[in-house]
Amino acid sequence: MVAHHGGPPEIVIVGGGLSGTALAIKLLREARQALAIRLVDPSAQPGRGLAYSTQEPGHLVNGPALIFTLYPDQPEHFVDWLTTQPEFAGQPRDAVAQAYVPRWRFGDYVSEQLWQAQQQAAPGVTFEHVQARVEDLDVSSSGIALALDAGRVLLADHAVLALGVFQSRPRFDSSGQLTQTGRYVANIWDCSRLAALVDADELVLVGGSLTMIDTVVSLEKLGYRGTYKVLARHGLTPVERRNPAPTEEPFGSVGPPHTLRQVVRELREKARAIISLGGDWQALPGALKPYLADWWRNAALTDRQRFFRHVRPHWDVFLHRAPPVSAALVTALRASGRLSIEAAIVTGLAEAPAGRVSVRYRPRGSEEECTILARGVVNCTGPDYRWHAGCEQPLVHNLFSRGLVQAGPVGLGIAVDPSLAAVAANGVASLHISVLGAALRGTIVEPGTVVEIANQTSTLSSRLLAVLRVTQAPAALQVS
Ligand SMILES: Cc1cc2nc3c(=O)[nH]c(=O)nc-3n(C[C@H](O)[C@H](O)[C@H](O)COP(=O)(O)OP(=O)(O)OC[C@H]3O[C@@H](n4cnc5c(N)ncnc54)[C@H](O)[C@@H]3O)c2cc1C
Repeated sequence: MVAHHGGPPEIVIVGGGLSGTALAIKLLREARQALAIRLVDPSAQPGRGLAYSTQEPGHLVNGPALIFTLYPDQPEHFVDWLTTQPEFAGQPRDAVAQAYVPRWRFGDYVSEQLWQAQQQAAPGVTFEHVQARVEDLDVSSSGIALALDAGRVLLADHAVLALGVFQSRPRFDSSGQLTQTGRYVANIWDCSRLAALVDADELVLVGGSLTMIDTVVSLEKLGYRGTYKVLARHGLTPVERRNPAPTEEPFGSVGPPHTLRQVVRELREKARAIISLGGDWQALPGALKPYLADWWRNAALTDRQRFFRHVRPHWDVFLHRAPPVSAALVTALRASGRLSIEAAIVTGLAEAPAGRVSVRYRPRGSEEECTILARGVVNCTGPDYRWHAGCEQPLVHNLFSRGLVQAGPVGLGIAVDPSLAAVAANGVASLHISVLGAALRGTIVEPGTVVEIANQTSTLSSRLLAVLRVTQAPAALQVS
């Protein structure tokens, strides 16, 4: 459907994190005819989202600069940008390419790319950042209507949901009392609440993922000198990321086997073989990338379910490794006895005498519950992908209750067709709503990595411009 109002076609992108901003950049660069692009996000500056808005310099991207680019056809674009930045002045290019930069700086790069794309856009191609939150969305014969928290209504021909991740909120503190006293921090990005724990002597961190590492980095910088007890479901934490050259053909010349069980077995055997020859198993993760998308698309539903139930914690440690400096911090804290990790499920929190929190947990493999006392507890369980069941956002709730979207495979994220159009509750792919980023979890195995987001935005921008009948620039002219 094309413009309902006689003006240029209008696209509203809901969410101005990396995904939404990368799409806006792509549309600005590709459109050769009038097009109105609106990006709705409550933050002051689009391009950062949750991952790249942290100003803590110790919160680093989890890979070398070389793998971060907004433009898959220009793999060194981010490295090129970094070489123009003051902190890298005079440094050899190789060192810049291998640097693990603060996430804030990647956000600077994305914001700058957005600004440049606006300056270079074709006549009539406009961009507006609407600083608000979308609370509701409905489709009518004349297009899409989006209700904002500010009371404003936006009309559009197409809406793209780039809502990012939402934090998992285990209901440990149902009365909210521990949160009120500051002894339970549900959201690690709430810096003042973390700072209030700095004088504690023992903290319990629930969850052992990269979010736990960010928490430890923040607390150490704030001056915390007590101990950390990490209670993580499988007792796993990310290991240091090394970057050996990817191994050739991890599954031999025949490609990956069909079943998850066989894939896991072959990968284990391959890792053992590499190690026995004195090599580094980290040559495997990079080598798997070309196979992942196809394998996941063809995997049986039961295998996808098994993956999330049994394999994912190991997979996350295998794939999402920690920047070397952050991993070294955790290793040093463990060696000094200040940080310990136990495989356990936290079952509840309660107030205890003398300003302490009593933490109930079940060690892995045990039926018995244990209790420990701590000065504070921090939720480091990371993102949740059960949009249908877990996301409390009014917009998401409304989209599901109107039947405009349905849960993706395995109950995760939002279902889409291969062109990223949202699939409604009646099974029909939407002409008006598309989805990007983390909400594709379930359809795409790793939808939130920078490279994957860049690929999604390429697919989506070409389709949107074609559907809205906006002429596109030839690929060679898109980035300057
Ligand atoms: C803490 C953290 C660190 C990460 N580090 C890395 C890394 O080092 N390397 C890597 O490859 N990946 C990393 N990731 C993965 C990361 O998810 C992606 O890199 C990327 O940031 C995802 O961008 P996004 O736009 O999809 O989501 P987000 O960054 O979450 O952005 C979504 C945006 O949508 C907005 N929004 C949500 N709902 C609404 C609404 N109703 N109305 C208006 N706006 C709305 C939010 O306010 C937010 O600004 C990290 C993720 C997290 C959470």
